[in-house]
Amino acid sequence: MTAPARLLIVGPQGSGKGTQGARIAETLGIPVVSTGDIFRANIKQGTDLGQQVTAILDAGDLVPDELTSEIVRDRLSQEDAAGGFLLDGYPRNTTQVGHLDAFLAEGGAALDAVILLEVPREESIARLRLRAVEQGRSDDTDEAIAHRLDIYENETAPIISLYEPRGIVDRIDGVGSLDEITARIMSALGARNLGQLV
Ligand code: AMP
Repeated sequence: MTAPARLLIVGPQGSGKGTQGARIAETLGIPVVSTGDIFRANIKQGTDLGQQVTAILDAGDLVPDELTSEIVRDRLSQEDAAGGFLLDGYPRNTTQVGHLDAFLAEGGAALDAVILLEVPREESIARLRLRAVEQGRSDDTDEAIAHRLDIYENETAPIISLYEPRGIVDRIDGVGSLDEITARIMSALGARNLGQLV
């Protein structure tokens, strides 16, 4: 058994947070909760939620906070998240930080660590263009990419200043090989005694 780890991975689109998040979660035996993945799955299945958010995702805008937070709250109340989780893509602005704090506090919990993957903007753009070709994501047009990076810089990056005073932010250099970056993250978590056998 490992101690529960409630983690958040933050970084600009194209920082590799999806890939790294999946690796870390697998190593720690916790589920990844990715709001982007939840929205995309709903769009694919044509659910009501999917229909509600298709145009928003295509434009690279944010889905309304209340709706997004409700979805995450439901997901985190499922049994597999009781032993920890890794959030990817949520919270994405300071309002969502408040929502998350409130519903974690109801269960007497709080985030244990925030992994901040730092990647220069030009590098993110280059990686996203590549992904657009490889995966054909409809929100990976040049315009939508620039728009999403602007939202990240203006709305998401400021959440770090809310978490920093809590002493839970680990800044990780996101440039390097996949294995190097995973090792950097695991060593930061290890320094917090997260993911250790108990
Ligand atoms: P991602 O896969 O994290 O890049 O998310 C893809 C898209 O889903 C974003 O561009 C938003 O339209 C939407 N989305 C994902 N997470 C959130 C969130 N926490 N709040 C609002 N919209 C979100």
